[in-house]
Amino acid sequence: MLQEVSLGARSLADYTHVVGKDLVAEIRDLAASLAGKRVLHVNATAFGGGVAEILYTLVPLMNDIGLDAHWQVMLGRDEFFDVTKQIHNTLQGDPREISDADWATYERYNLLNAMGMDGEWDLIVIHDPQPAMIRREAPDLAGSWMWRCHIDVSTPNPSSLARLLPYVNQYDAAFFHIPEYVPPGLAETVDARIVPPAIDPLSPKNMAFSVDDAAFIAQQFGVDPDRPLLLQVSRFDPWKDPSGVIDAYRIVRREVPGVQLALVGSMASDDPEGWEFYNATVAHAEGDPEIKILSNLNNVGAIEVNAFQSLADVNIQKSLKEGFGLTVTESMWKGRPTIGGAVGGIVSQISDGETGFLVSSPQQCAERCIELLADPELGRRLGRNGKEHARRNFLTPRLLRDYVRLMADLAV
Ligand code: UDP
Repeated sequence: MLQEVSLGARSLADYTHVVGKDLVAEIRDLAASLAGKRVLHVNATAFGGGVAEILYTLVPLMNDIGLDAHWQVMLGRDEFFDVTKQIHNTLQGDPREISDADWATYERYNLLNAMGMDGEWDLIVIHDPQPAMIRREAPDLAGSWMWRCHIDVSTPNPSSLARLLPYVNQYDAAFFHIPEYVPPGLAETVDARIVPPAIDPLSPKNMAFSVDDAAFIAQQFGVDPDRPLLLQVSRFDPWKDPSGVIDAYRIVRREVPGVQLALVGSMASDDPEGWEFYNATVAHAEGDPEIKILSNLNNVGAIEVNAFQSLADVNIQKSLKEGFGLTVTESMWKGRPTIGGAVGGIVSQISDGETGFLVSSPQQCAERCIELLADPELGRRLGRNGKEHARRNFLTPRLLRDYVRLMADLAV
């Protein structure tokens, strides 16, 4: 009943030159005792969002090292996803209460999905809150269960957390991005580990791109590659603060008249809130021709995001709240100077003045941009440090290592 996601092949060997022989050898060592183990990942969607992006690489790599790994997407209708969006928002701090009727919808769909699952699994990995209750409804499907939390639960709405926690407490293990996201009340029987997400260095979004090719692509969107470019790639969402980025750009422009700004953000055609905020951002730009506001509707896909990130003089992620911030990782991996809001997962990636800059206001953001535009050597140093930091900590093979290490420790 759950939908199996069909996947391409990946080879861990291809990553050796990027992450080094030691990590690859460590993974192979750990995997040796896990040959043939059946692993199932379950999440809510096969397209869009960071979870899907990670699984498209992680699951084929698990197969490459000898596991029998699968990925299935749970089934649900709008009424379910409306509720899980509320659950997601409340776990990230929205104070509104979720009604009992809505929780009943959540439970009904989890039960339906649990009943529709089959097979014998050594490990089932459940991603995020949407399918979290499946473990309770079908405990015999797997020898071990783990819950992968991809969201910021540092300041949850207590009543939503109280509803979810009993389900999570039944798992053998759980992964969280940073220590602050481990919820108080998590049972001691859950082996909780701090495991940040990762990006795939060989994917179209992150593979090496020459500056000339990047310039060629950005030019097609009206960017002049010979003038300084500031960039933010992110959904049109208040927490990503694109208006604050525009304010910062306006301050920079007084000192650096030729500067340009690109705001690249994906839009879902069925997301009315996203459209409203997109329109508000366009209005805030006041028709300034040096501000390019682009989205997937302009055909900006993974390659174009890569080109913009590889070309920009400064990559900005001026979030006011941020679970992890994969765009920060993506920018650092491209060796570009990166400025991030001093919040959530961004703080765990950027150490201020070493691998980038952390800022807390448009003014501060503008000052750091001006500094970086005036001193290319500073940008190169931060970029180099950021790239090494990303290489050691935030590439998919490290994430794969953390999964197989957990499996070895759990003796699945
Ligand atoms: N992204 C994209 N196109 C866009 C905007 C975002 O491909 O127009 C990607 C971006 O490159 C990153 C992901 O979406 O891989 C966003 O992840 P992040 O953790 O930064 O933020 P989230 O959207 O999950 O809050």
